[in-house]
Amino acid sequence: MTLTGKQLIGTTESADSSETFQGVNPATGKPLDTKFHEATAAEIDRAATMADEVFGTFRDMLAERRADFLEAIVEETLAMGDEFLEIASAETGHPLPRCTMERDRAVNQARLFANLLREGSWVDARIDLGDASRTPAPKPDVRSLLQPIGPVAVFGASNFPIAISVLGADTISALASGCPVIVKAHPAHPGTCEMAARAILKAAEKMRMPEGVFSLVQGKGIESGTTLVQHPKIMAAAFTGSLKGGRALMDVAAARPHPIPFYAEMGSVNPIFILPGALKENPETLADGFVNALTLGVGQFCTNPGLALGIQSDEWDRFSQLVSERVAQYTPSTMLHAGIHAAYTDGILARADNEELLLLGESEAEADPNACEAAAYVYETTQQGLLNDPTLLEELFGPSSTLVSCGKLTDMVEIAEKLEGSLSITVHGTEADLAEFKPLLKILQRKAGRLIFNGFPVGIEVCHSMHHGGPFPAASHSFFTSIGTRCIQRFVRPVCYQNWPNSQLPLALQNENPRGVWRMIDGVMTRDEV
Ligand code: NAP
Repeated sequence: MTLTGKQLIGTTESADSSETFQGVNPATGKPLDTKFHEATAAEIDRAATMADEVFGTFRDMLAERRADFLEAIVEETLAMGDEFLEIASAETGHPLPRCTMERDRAVNQARLFANLLREGSWVDARIDLGDASRTPAPKPDVRSLLQPIGPVAVFGASNFPIAISVLGADTISALASGCPVIVKAHPAHPGTCEMAARAILKAAEKMRMPEGVFSLVQGKGIESGTTLVQHPKIMAAAFTGSLKGGRALMDVAAARPHPIPFYAEMGSVNPIFILPGALKENPETLADGFVNALTLGVGQFCTNPGLALGIQSDEWDRFSQLVSERVAQYTPSTMLHAGIHAAYTDGILARADNEELLLLGESEAEADPNACEAAAYVYETTQQGLLNDPTLLEELFGPSSTLVSCGKLTDMVEIAEKLEGSLSITVHGTEADLAEFKPLLKILQRKAGRLIFNGFPVGIEVCHSMHHGGPFPAASHSFFTSIGTRCIQRFVRPVCYQNWPNSQLPLALQNENPRGVWRMIDGVMTRDEV
Protein backbone atom coordinates (compact mmCIF):
# COMPACT_ATOMS: atom_id res chain seq x y z
CA MET A 1 0.00 0.00 0.00
CA THR A 2 1.30 3.45 -0.87
CA LEU A 3 1.08 5.92 1.98
CA THR A 4 0.17 9.48 0.97
CA GLY A 5 0.62 11.26 4.31
CA LYS A 6 -2.63 13.17 3.72
CA GLN A 7 -5.66 13.70 5.91
CA LEU A 8 -8.31 11.09 5.17
CA ILE A 9 -11.58 12.96 5.47
CA GLY A 10 -14.27 10.50 4.57
CA THR A 11 -13.33 9.37 1.06
CA THR A 12 -11.42 12.60 0.33
CA GLU A 13 -7.67 12.94 0.70
CA SER A 14 -6.46 16.36 1.66
CA ALA A 15 -3.10 18.07 2.16
CA ASP A 16 -3.80 21.79 2.59
CA SER A 17 -0.66 22.45 4.61
CA SER A 18 2.84 22.27 3.19
CA GLU A 19 4.17 21.68 6.71
CA THR A 20 5.18 18.04 6.97
CA PHE A 21 6.83 15.59 9.34
CA GLN A 22 8.12 12.05 9.03
CA GLY A 23 7.97 8.94 11.15
CA VAL A 24 11.32 7.81 12.52
CA ASN A 25 12.67 4.31 13.00
CA PRO A 26 13.83 4.50 16.64
CA ALA A 27 16.33 1.69 16.20
CA THR A 28 18.25 3.52 13.46
CA GLY A 29 17.25 7.11 14.11
CA LYS A 30 16.49 7.36 10.38
CA PRO A 31 13.37 9.08 9.10
CA LEU A 32 10.94 6.90 7.17
CA ASP A 33 9.97 7.80 3.60
CA THR A 34 6.46 9.25 3.79
CA LYS A 35 5.96 12.92 4.51
CA PHE A 36 2.83 13.51 6.60
CA HIS A 37 1.01 16.80 6.27
CA GLU A 38 -0.04 18.70 9.38
CA ALA A 39 -3.83 18.95 9.49
CA THR A 40 -5.11 22.51 9.22
CA ALA A 41 -8.03 23.94 11.17
CA ALA A 42 -10.06 23.97 7.92
CA GLU A 43 -9.41 20.26 7.35
CA ILE A 44 -10.38 19.43 10.94
CA ASP A 45 -13.51 21.49 10.45
CA ARG A 46 -14.41 19.54 7.30
CA ALA A 47 -13.98 16.22 9.10
CA ALA A 48 -16.01 17.32 12.13
CA THR A 49 -18.77 18.91 10.04
CA MET A 50 -19.10 15.80 7.90
CA ALA A 51 -19.17 13.60 11.02
CA ASP A 52 -21.94 15.74 12.46
CA GLU A 53 -23.94 15.63 9.22
CA VAL A 54 -23.95 11.83 9.07
CA PHE A 55 -24.46 11.29 12.78
CA GLY A 56 -28.26 10.99 12.50
CA THR A 57 -28.07 8.32 9.78
CA PHE A 58 -25.37 6.34 11.55
CA ARG A 59 -27.16 6.53 14.90
CA ASP A 60 -30.50 5.36 13.53
CA MET A 61 -29.16 2.49 11.46
CA LEU A 62 -29.97 -1.05 12.61
CA ALA A 63 -27.36 -2.30 15.08
CA GLU A 64 -26.76 -5.33 12.84
CA ARG A 65 -25.47 -3.04 10.10
CA ARG A 66 -22.94 -1.51 12.45
CA ALA A 67 -21.95 -5.03 13.54
CA ASP A 68 -21.38 -5.90 9.86
CA PHE A 69 -19.25 -2.77 9.54
CA LEU A 70 -17.06 -3.83 12.49
CA GLU A 71 -16.63 -7.29 10.99
CA ALA A 72 -15.68 -5.72 7.66
CA ILE A 73 -13.02 -3.69 9.51
CA VAL A 74 -11.64 -6.99 10.82
CA GLU A 75 -11.49 -8.40 7.28
CA GLU A 76 -9.80 -5.32 5.83
CA THR A 77 -7.30 -5.23 8.71
CA LEU A 78 -6.34 -8.87 8.21
CA ALA A 79 -6.16 -8.33 4.45
CA MET A 80 -3.28 -5.87 4.93
CA GLY A 81 -1.19 -8.84 6.07
CA ASP A 82 2.44 -8.41 7.00
CA GLU A 83 2.82 -5.01 5.36
CA PHE A 84 0.77 -3.44 8.15
CA LEU A 85 2.79 -5.22 10.84
CA GLU A 86 6.07 -4.26 9.22
CA ILE A 87 5.29 -0.55 9.19
CA ALA A 88 4.17 -0.68 12.84
CA SER A 89 7.42 -2.42 13.70
CA ALA A 90 9.55 0.07 11.77
CA GLU A 91 7.84 3.07 13.39
CA THR A 92 7.94 1.80 16.98
CA GLY A 93 10.81 -0.65 17.34
CA HIS A 94 8.31 -3.30 18.48
CA PRO A 95 9.37 -6.74 17.21
CA LEU A 96 7.04 -8.29 14.60
CA PRO A 97 5.53 -10.89 16.98
CA ARG A 98 4.49 -8.06 19.29
CA CYS A 99 2.81 -6.27 16.34
CA THR A 100 1.04 -9.50 15.37
CA MET A 101 -0.21 -9.88 18.94
CA GLU A 102 -1.54 -6.31 18.88
CA ARG A 103 -3.26 -6.80 15.52
CA ASP A 104 -4.92 -10.01 16.73
CA ARG A 105 -6.00 -8.31 19.92
CA ALA A 106 -7.53 -5.44 17.93
CA VAL A 107 -9.48 -7.70 15.56
CA ASN A 108 -10.76 -9.90 18.39
CA GLN A 109 -11.89 -6.77 20.17
CA ALA A 110 -13.80 -5.59 17.07
CA ARG A 111 -15.47 -9.03 16.85
CA LEU A 112 -16.44 -8.81 20.52
CA PHE A 113 -18.16 -5.46 19.90
CA ALA A 114 -19.90 -6.86 16.82
CA ASN A 115 -21.30 -9.66 19.04
CA LEU A 116 -22.33 -7.11 21.64
CA LEU A 117 -24.32 -5.22 19.02
CA ARG A 118 -25.99 -8.35 17.69
CA GLU A 119 -27.04 -9.41 21.19
CA GLY A 120 -28.37 -5.89 21.78
CA SER A 121 -28.94 -5.70 25.55
CA TRP A 122 -26.05 -3.26 26.09
CA VAL A 123 -28.45 -0.34 25.50
CA ASP A 124 -29.77 -0.89 29.06
CA ALA A 125 -33.44 -0.53 28.15
CA ARG A 126 -35.69 0.20 31.14
CA ILE A 127 -39.44 0.42 31.12
CA ASP A 128 -41.69 1.57 33.95
CA LEU A 129 -45.25 1.05 32.84
CA GLY A 130 -47.77 3.82 33.36
CA ASP A 131 -50.85 3.48 35.53
CA ALA A 132 -53.62 5.94 34.75
CA SER A 133 -55.62 4.77 37.75
CA ARG A 134 -52.93 5.51 40.33
CA THR A 135 -53.96 8.07 42.96
CA PRO A 136 -53.49 10.77 43.87
CA ALA A 137 -51.62 11.28 40.53
CA PRO A 138 -51.57 8.94 37.54
CA LYS A 139 -48.23 7.22 36.95
CA PRO A 140 -46.62 8.15 33.61
CA ASP A 141 -45.17 5.53 31.26
CA VAL A 142 -41.39 6.12 31.51
CA ARG A 143 -38.84 4.35 29.36
CA SER A 144 -35.12 4.97 28.84
CA LEU A 145 -32.09 3.60 27.06
CA LEU A 146 -28.56 4.60 26.11
CA GLN A 147 -28.14 6.52 22.87
CA PRO A 148 -24.97 7.69 21.06
CA ILE A 149 -23.67 11.11 21.96
CA GLY A 150 -22.34 12.46 18.62
CA PRO A 151 -18.97 12.76 16.83
CA VAL A 152 -16.06 11.51 18.94
CA ALA A 153 -12.38 12.52 18.80
CA VAL A 154 -9.84 9.77 19.53
CA PHE A 155 -6.16 10.01 20.57
CA GLY A 156 -4.09 6.82 20.80
CA ALA A 157 -0.86 6.19 22.73
CA SER A 158 2.56 5.60 21.25
CA ASN A 159 3.13 2.28 23.01
CA PHE A 160 0.29 0.36 21.34
CA PRO A 161 0.43 1.46 17.67
CA ILE A 162 -2.26 -1.03 16.67
CA ALA A 163 -4.22 -2.14 19.75
CA ILE A 164 -4.61 1.30 21.39
CA SER A 165 -4.53 3.52 18.34
CA VAL A 166 -6.72 3.90 15.23
CA LEU A 167 -8.09 0.35 15.57
CA GLY A 168 -8.27 0.45 19.36
CA ALA A 169 -11.24 0.14 21.70
CA ASP A 170 -11.94 3.89 21.61
CA THR A 171 -12.62 3.93 17.87
CA ILE A 172 -14.33 0.56 17.79
CA SER A 173 -16.62 1.17 20.77
CA ALA A 174 -17.55 4.65 19.54
CA LEU A 175 -18.44 3.29 16.09
CA ALA A 176 -20.34 0.42 17.73
CA SER A 177 -22.42 2.87 19.76
CA GLY A 178 -23.35 4.83 16.62
CA CYS A 179 -20.92 7.74 16.94
CA PRO A 180 -18.82 8.91 13.97
CA VAL A 181 -15.10 9.05 14.84
CA ILE A 182 -12.22 11.35 13.99
CA VAL A 183 -8.82 10.04 15.03
CA LYS A 184 -5.85 12.32 15.60
CA ALA A 185 -3.00 10.07 14.41
CA HIS A 186 -0.09 9.58 16.81
CA PRO A 187 2.98 11.34 15.36
CA ALA A 188 5.22 8.48 16.51
CA HIS A 189 3.43 6.01 14.20
CA PRO A 190 1.70 8.06 11.48
CA GLY A 191 2.08 5.41 8.77
CA THR A 192 0.52 2.69 10.93
CA CYS A 193 -2.34 5.11 11.61
CA GLU A 194 -2.82 5.81 7.90
CA MET A 195 -2.90 2.12 7.00
CA ALA A 196 -5.38 1.31 9.78
CA ALA A 197 -7.55 4.26 8.75
CA ARG A 198 -7.58 3.06 5.15
CA ALA A 199 -8.78 -0.36 6.33
CA ILE A 200 -11.65 1.30 8.23
CA LEU A 201 -12.53 3.50 5.24
CA LYS A 202 -12.50 0.52 2.88
CA ALA A 203 -14.82 -1.35 5.22
CA ALA A 204 -17.08 1.71 5.44
CA GLU A 205 -17.32 1.91 1.66
CA LYS A 206 -17.95 -1.80 1.31
CA MET A 207 -20.74 -1.76 3.90
CA ARG A 208 -22.23 1.46 2.45
CA MET A 209 -21.71 3.48 5.59
CA PRO A 210 -22.41 7.19 5.20
CA GLU A 211 -19.33 9.15 4.17
CA GLY A 212 -17.79 10.98 7.11
CA VAL A 213 -18.43 8.24 9.63
CA PHE A 214 -14.66 7.97 10.05
CA SER A 215 -11.77 10.40 9.36
CA LEU A 216 -8.10 10.58 10.24
CA VAL A 217 -6.10 13.75 10.75
CA GLN A 218 -2.34 13.93 11.14
CA GLY A 219 -0.31 16.28 13.32
CA LYS A 220 2.97 16.53 15.16
CA GLY A 221 2.61 18.81 18.13
CA ILE A 222 -0.34 19.89 20.14
CA GLU A 223 -2.17 22.17 17.70
CA SER A 224 -4.20 19.75 15.62
CA GLY A 225 -5.31 17.75 18.68
CA THR A 226 -6.29 20.88 20.56
CA THR A 227 -8.26 22.22 17.58
CA LEU A 228 -10.06 18.90 17.28
CA VAL A 229 -11.10 18.84 20.95
CA GLN A 230 -12.26 22.46 20.71
CA HIS A 231 -14.39 21.88 17.62
CA PRO A 232 -18.04 22.59 18.47
CA LYS A 233 -19.28 19.53 16.56
CA ILE A 234 -17.17 17.13 18.64
CA MET A 235 -19.32 15.76 21.47
CA ALA A 236 -16.79 13.60 23.38
CA ALA A 237 -13.10 12.70 23.26
CA ALA A 238 -11.15 9.62 24.29
CA PHE A 239 -7.44 9.83 24.98
CA THR A 240 -4.76 7.31 25.93
CA GLY A 241 -1.36 8.66 26.80
CA SER A 242 0.62 10.59 29.37
CA LEU A 243 -0.73 12.44 32.37
CA LYS A 244 0.73 15.65 30.93
CA GLY A 245 -1.06 15.30 27.57
CA GLY A 246 -4.26 13.92 29.07
CA ARG A 247 -4.50 16.68 31.65
CA ALA A 248 -3.84 19.41 29.07
CA LEU A 249 -6.55 18.14 26.71
CA MET A 250 -8.95 17.46 29.58
CA ASP A 251 -8.65 21.14 30.53
CA VAL A 252 -9.20 22.16 26.89
CA ALA A 253 -12.40 20.07 26.81
CA ALA A 254 -13.62 21.61 30.08
CA ALA A 255 -12.82 25.17 28.95
CA ARG A 256 -14.97 24.98 25.80
CA PRO A 257 -18.04 27.23 25.78
CA HIS A 258 -19.92 23.93 25.58
CA PRO A 259 -17.79 21.49 27.66
CA ILE A 260 -17.72 17.85 26.58
CA PRO A 261 -16.84 14.60 28.35
CA PHE A 262 -13.14 13.87 28.01
CA TYR A 263 -12.09 10.31 28.82
CA ALA A 264 -8.36 10.14 29.45
CA GLU A 265 -6.59 6.90 30.35
CA MET A 266 -3.17 7.87 31.60
CA GLY A 267 -0.08 6.55 33.29
CA SER A 268 0.05 4.76 36.60
CA VAL A 269 2.55 3.37 39.12
CA ASN A 270 0.79 -0.02 39.60
CA PRO A 271 2.20 -1.03 43.02
CA ILE A 272 2.71 -4.66 43.96
CA PHE A 273 2.32 -5.64 47.63
CA ILE A 274 4.20 -8.83 48.42
CA LEU A 275 2.97 -10.21 51.73
CA PRO A 276 5.22 -12.38 53.95
CA GLY A 277 3.53 -15.77 53.39
CA ALA A 278 3.74 -15.47 49.60
CA LEU A 279 7.37 -14.38 49.80
CA LYS A 280 8.27 -17.41 51.90
CA GLU A 281 6.53 -19.84 49.53
CA ASN A 282 8.21 -19.01 46.25
CA PRO A 283 10.72 -16.16 46.05
CA GLU A 284 12.23 -17.37 42.74
CA THR A 285 8.93 -17.43 40.87
CA LEU A 286 8.01 -14.06 42.33
CA ALA A 287 11.30 -12.49 41.28
CA ASP A 288 10.98 -13.96 37.76
CA GLY A 289 7.43 -12.71 37.39
CA PHE A 290 8.23 -9.28 38.75
CA VAL A 291 11.26 -8.65 36.52
CA ASN A 292 9.42 -10.02 33.51
CA ALA A 293 6.51 -7.64 34.19
CA LEU A 294 8.73 -4.62 34.58
CA THR A 295 10.86 -5.26 31.49
CA LEU A 296 8.18 -6.57 29.09
CA GLY A 297 7.93 -4.33 26.03
CA VAL A 298 10.95 -2.35 27.37
CA GLY A 299 8.80 -1.41 30.36
CA GLN A 300 6.50 0.61 28.11
CA PHE A 301 3.19 -0.56 29.52
CA CYS A 302 0.76 1.65 31.38
CA THR A 303 0.49 -1.26 33.83
CA ASN A 304 4.24 -1.55 34.39
CA PRO A 305 4.87 -2.16 38.14
CA GLY A 306 6.76 0.93 39.34
CA LEU A 307 6.80 -0.10 43.02
CA ALA A 308 7.03 -3.38 44.92
CA LEU A 309 6.50 -3.32 48.68
CA GLY A 310 7.32 -5.97 51.27
CA ILE A 311 7.97 -6.41 54.98
CA GLN A 312 11.67 -6.34 55.89
CA SER A 313 12.88 -9.92 56.57
CA ASP A 314 15.47 -12.45 55.40
CA GLU A 315 12.98 -13.52 52.72
CA TRP A 316 12.62 -9.93 51.48
CA ASP A 317 16.43 -9.64 51.28
CA ARG A 318 16.53 -12.88 49.33
CA PHE A 319 13.80 -11.63 46.96
CA SER A 320 15.72 -8.35 46.45
CA GLN A 321 18.87 -10.30 45.67
CA LEU A 322 17.05 -12.45 43.10
CA VAL A 323 15.53 -9.36 41.47
CA SER A 324 18.95 -7.74 41.26
CA GLU A 325 20.39 -10.86 39.54
CA ARG A 326 17.55 -11.08 37.04
CA VAL A 327 17.63 -7.38 36.19
CA ALA A 328 21.35 -7.67 35.45
CA GLN A 329 20.49 -10.20 32.72
CA TYR A 330 18.03 -7.89 30.93
CA THR A 331 19.35 -6.90 27.51
CA PRO A 332 18.79 -3.19 26.80
CA SER A 333 16.23 -2.71 24.03
CA THR A 334 14.91 0.02 21.76
CA MET A 335 12.23 2.32 23.15
CA LEU A 336 9.37 3.75 21.11
CA HIS A 337 10.85 7.09 20.19
CA ALA A 338 13.54 9.57 21.11
CA GLY A 339 11.16 11.61 23.32
CA ILE A 340 10.21 8.66 25.51
CA HIS A 341 13.84 7.55 25.63
CA ALA A 342 14.96 11.02 26.77
CA ALA A 343 12.22 11.17 29.45
CA TYR A 344 13.32 7.77 30.78
CA THR A 345 17.00 8.70 30.79
CA ASP A 346 16.26 11.97 32.62
CA GLY A 347 14.15 10.11 35.18
CA ILE A 348 16.99 7.64 35.86
CA LEU A 349 19.50 10.48 36.20
CA ALA A 350 17.24 12.27 38.67
CA ARG A 351 17.06 9.12 40.82
CA ALA A 352 20.83 9.24 41.25
CA ASP A 353 20.40 12.47 43.27
CA ASN A 354 18.27 10.80 45.92
CA GLU A 355 20.53 9.61 48.73
CA GLU A 356 17.82 7.48 50.29
CA LEU A 357 17.45 5.51 47.07
CA LEU A 358 20.00 2.77 46.45
CA LEU A 359 20.59 1.17 43.07
CA LEU A 360 19.84 -2.50 43.66
CA GLY A 361 20.49 -3.76 40.15
CA GLU A 362 20.89 -2.73 36.55
CA SER A 363 21.36 -4.36 33.15
CA GLU A 364 24.93 -5.59 32.80
CA ALA A 365 24.99 -4.84 29.09
CA GLU A 366 25.37 -1.22 28.01
CA ALA A 367 22.47 0.52 26.32
CA ASP A 368 23.12 2.19 22.96
CA PRO A 369 21.55 5.67 23.15
CA ASN A 370 21.77 6.04 19.35
CA ALA A 371 19.40 3.10 19.02
CA CYS A 372 17.10 4.59 21.72
CA GLU A 373 17.97 1.62 23.93
CA ALA A 374 16.99 1.49 27.57
CA ALA A 375 18.65 -0.56 30.30
CA ALA A 376 16.63 -1.85 33.27
CA TYR A 377 17.15 -0.35 36.73
CA VAL A 378 15.78 -1.45 40.09
CA TYR A 379 16.19 0.66 43.22
CA GLU A 380 15.58 -0.01 46.88
CA THR A 381 14.45 2.24 49.65
CA THR A 382 12.57 2.19 52.93
CA GLN A 383 9.05 3.24 53.77
CA GLN A 384 10.38 6.60 54.95
CA GLY A 385 12.59 6.98 51.87
CA LEU A 386 9.53 6.54 49.68
CA LEU A 387 7.44 8.99 51.64
CA ASN A 388 10.26 11.57 51.48
CA ASP A 389 10.34 11.52 47.67
CA PRO A 390 6.91 11.98 46.06
CA THR A 391 8.39 11.45 42.57
CA LEU A 392 8.68 7.75 43.43
CA LEU A 393 4.89 7.64 43.54
CA GLU A 394 4.73 8.83 39.91
CA GLU A 395 5.09 6.82 36.71
CA LEU A 396 8.58 6.58 35.19
CA PHE A 397 7.77 5.12 31.77
CA GLY A 398 10.34 2.41 31.05
CA PRO A 399 11.94 -0.71 32.58
CA SER A 400 12.51 0.58 36.08
CA SER A 401 11.01 -0.07 39.51
CA THR A 402 11.66 0.50 43.21
CA LEU A 403 11.53 -2.09 46.00
CA VAL A 404 10.29 -0.62 49.27
CA SER A 405 10.96 -2.37 52.56
CA CYS A 406 8.46 -1.68 55.31
CA GLY A 407 8.86 -2.42 59.03
CA LYS A 408 5.33 -3.63 59.66
CA LEU A 409 1.76 -3.70 58.41
CA THR A 410 1.03 -0.13 59.55
CA ASP A 411 3.94 1.16 57.39
CA MET A 412 2.34 -0.46 54.35
CA VAL A 413 -1.01 1.03 55.31
CA GLU A 414 0.57 4.49 55.57
CA ILE A 415 2.03 4.15 52.07
CA ALA A 416 -1.23 2.79 50.70
CA GLU A 417 -3.04 5.84 52.07
CA LYS A 418 -0.63 8.10 50.18
CA LEU A 419 -0.91 6.29 46.84
CA GLU A 420 -2.46 8.18 43.96
CA GLY A 421 -5.12 6.52 41.84
CA SER A 422 -3.67 3.62 39.87
CA LEU A 423 -4.83 1.50 36.95
CA SER A 424 -3.95 -1.61 38.93
CA ILE A 425 -2.77 -2.81 42.33
CA THR A 426 -1.44 -6.32 42.83
CA VAL A 427 -1.31 -8.37 46.03
CA HIS A 428 0.72 -11.52 46.47
CA GLY A 429 -0.35 -13.42 49.55
CA THR A 430 -1.62 -16.56 51.24
CA GLU A 431 -4.96 -16.95 53.01
CA ALA A 432 -3.19 -16.24 56.30
CA ASP A 433 -1.65 -13.07 54.81
CA LEU A 434 -5.04 -11.87 53.64
CA ALA A 435 -6.49 -12.26 57.12
CA GLU A 436 -3.54 -10.48 58.74
CA PHE A 437 -3.37 -7.62 56.18
CA LYS A 438 -7.11 -6.95 55.96
CA PRO A 439 -6.78 -3.21 56.81
CA LEU A 440 -4.35 -2.85 53.88
CA LEU A 441 -6.69 -4.61 51.44
CA LYS A 442 -9.53 -2.29 52.41
CA ILE A 443 -7.50 0.79 51.46
CA LEU A 444 -6.19 -0.72 48.24
CA GLN A 445 -9.73 -1.19 46.94
CA ARG A 446 -10.18 2.58 47.04
CA LYS A 447 -7.02 3.23 45.03
CA ALA A 448 -7.19 1.24 41.79
CA GLY A 449 -9.46 0.23 38.93
CA ARG A 450 -8.23 -3.39 38.87
CA LEU A 451 -7.03 -5.53 41.80
CA ILE A 452 -4.90 -8.54 40.95
CA PHE A 453 -4.18 -11.45 43.24
CA ASN A 454 -1.03 -13.55 42.93
CA GLY A 455 -0.36 -12.39 39.38
CA PHE A 456 1.14 -9.42 37.55
CA PRO A 457 -0.57 -6.36 36.09
CA VAL A 458 0.75 -6.37 32.51
CA GLY A 459 -1.56 -8.02 29.98
CA ILE A 460 -5.18 -6.91 30.08
CA GLU A 461 -7.94 -9.33 29.14
CA VAL A 462 -10.40 -7.85 26.65
CA CYS A 463 -13.76 -8.99 28.07
CA HIS A 464 -17.09 -7.79 29.41
CA SER A 465 -16.06 -7.34 33.03
CA MET A 466 -12.64 -5.74 32.50
CA HIS A 467 -12.13 -2.34 34.07
CA HIS A 468 -9.07 -0.49 32.79
CA GLY A 469 -9.21 2.89 34.46
CA GLY A 470 -9.14 4.07 38.04
CA PRO A 471 -9.18 7.13 40.26
CA PHE A 472 -7.35 10.22 38.92
CA PRO A 473 -4.59 10.42 37.70
CA ALA A 474 -4.96 6.89 36.28
CA ALA A 475 -8.01 8.16 34.40
CA SER A 476 -9.93 11.41 34.10
CA HIS A 477 -13.15 9.75 35.24
CA SER A 478 -12.99 6.73 37.53
CA PHE A 479 -16.38 5.35 36.45
CA PHE A 480 -15.24 4.52 32.93
CA THR A 481 -12.96 1.95 31.34
CA SER A 482 -11.01 2.14 28.08
CA ILE A 483 -10.79 -1.65 27.64
CA GLY A 484 -13.60 -4.21 27.67
CA THR A 485 -17.14 -3.85 26.38
CA ARG A 486 -18.16 -1.41 29.13
CA CYS A 487 -16.06 1.21 27.34
CA ILE A 488 -19.01 1.77 24.98
CA GLN A 489 -20.70 3.61 27.86
CA ARG A 490 -18.38 6.58 27.35
CA PHE A 491 -20.04 7.49 24.09
CA VAL A 492 -23.70 7.28 25.01
CA ARG A 493 -26.13 9.16 27.18
CA PRO A 494 -29.38 7.95 28.70
CA VAL A 495 -32.47 9.33 26.96
CA CYS A 496 -35.80 9.04 28.71
CA TYR A 497 -39.16 8.93 26.91
CA GLN A 498 -42.25 9.79 28.91
CA ASN A 499 -45.68 8.77 27.54
CA TRP A 500 -44.02 8.63 24.10
CA PRO A 501 -46.07 6.85 21.38
CA ASN A 502 -44.98 3.21 20.96
CA SER A 503 -44.46 3.58 17.20
CA GLN A 504 -42.03 6.47 17.74
CA LEU A 505 -39.89 4.79 20.39
CA PRO A 506 -36.47 3.30 19.61
CA LEU A 507 -36.86 -0.40 18.77
CA ALA A 508 -35.45 -1.59 22.11
CA LEU A 509 -38.14 0.33 24.02
CA GLN A 510 -41.15 -0.66 21.93
CA ASN A 511 -43.71 -2.99 23.55
CA GLU A 512 -42.97 -5.79 21.06
CA ASN A 513 -39.22 -6.18 21.76
CA PRO A 514 -38.61 -7.56 18.24
CA ARG A 515 -34.91 -8.27 18.89
CA GLY A 516 -35.60 -10.02 22.19
CA VAL A 517 -33.11 -7.96 24.19
CA TRP A 518 -32.93 -8.05 27.96
CA ARG A 519 -34.88 -5.16 29.45
CA MET A 520 -35.86 -4.08 32.93
CA ILE A 521 -39.64 -3.88 33.08
CA ASP A 522 -41.01 -2.53 36.34
CA GLY A 523 -37.74 -3.47 38.04
CA VAL A 524 -37.50 -7.05 36.72
CA MET A 525 -35.02 -8.21 34.02
CA THR A 526 -36.84 -9.98 31.20
CA ARG A 527 -36.77 -10.59 27.44
CA ASP A 528 -40.57 -10.59 27.30
CA GLU A 529 -42.81 -8.20 25.41
CA VAL A 530 -44.69 -5.60 27.38
P1 NAP B 1 1.37 11.35 24.94
O1 NAP B 1 2.67 11.99 24.69
O2 NAP B 1 0.50 11.96 25.99
O3 NAP B 1 0.62 11.28 23.52
C1 NAP B 1 -0.69 10.77 23.31
C2 NAP B 1 -1.42 11.59 22.23
O4 NAP B 1 -1.82 12.83 22.78
C3 NAP B 1 -0.58 11.94 21.02
O5 NAP B 1 -1.41 11.93 19.87
C4 NAP B 1 -0.11 13.34 21.32
O6 NAP B 1 0.15 14.06 20.14
C5 NAP B 1 -1.31 13.93 22.03
N1 NAP B 1 -0.94 15.00 22.96
C6 NAP B 1 -0.07 14.89 24.00
N2 NAP B 1 -0.03 16.06 24.68
C7 NAP B 1 -0.89 16.89 24.07
C8 NAP B 1 -1.31 18.24 24.33
N3 NAP B 1 -0.81 18.94 25.34
N4 NAP B 1 -2.20 18.79 23.49
C9 NAP B 1 -2.70 18.09 22.44
N5 NAP B 1 -2.35 16.82 22.15
C10 NAP B 1 -1.46 16.22 22.96
O7 NAP B 1 1.55 9.82 25.40
P2 NAP B 1 2.48 8.71 24.72
O8 NAP B 1 3.89 9.06 24.98
O9 NAP B 1 2.04 8.47 23.37
O10 NAP B 1 2.15 7.39 25.54
C11 NAP B 1 2.84 6.98 26.69
C12 NAP B 1 1.98 7.22 27.92
O11 NAP B 1 0.70 6.64 27.72
C13 NAP B 1 2.50 6.60 29.20
O12 NAP B 1 2.36 7.51 30.24
C14 NAP B 1 1.59 5.39 29.42
O13 NAP B 1 1.45 4.99 30.75
C15 NAP B 1 0.30 5.92 28.87
N6 NAP B 1 -0.59 4.85 28.47
C16 NAP B 1 -1.74 4.67 29.15
C17 NAP B 1 -2.58 3.62 28.81
C18 NAP B 1 -3.86 3.41 29.54
O14 NAP B 1 -4.66 2.62 29.07
N7 NAP B 1 -4.09 4.05 30.65
C19 NAP B 1 -2.25 2.76 27.76
C20 NAP B 1 -1.07 2.99 27.07
C21 NAP B 1 -0.25 4.04 27.44
P3 NAP B 1 1.50 14.92 20.01
O15 NAP B 1 2.64 13.98 20.26
O16 NAP B 1 1.41 15.46 18.63
O17 NAP B 1 1.42 15.99 21.06
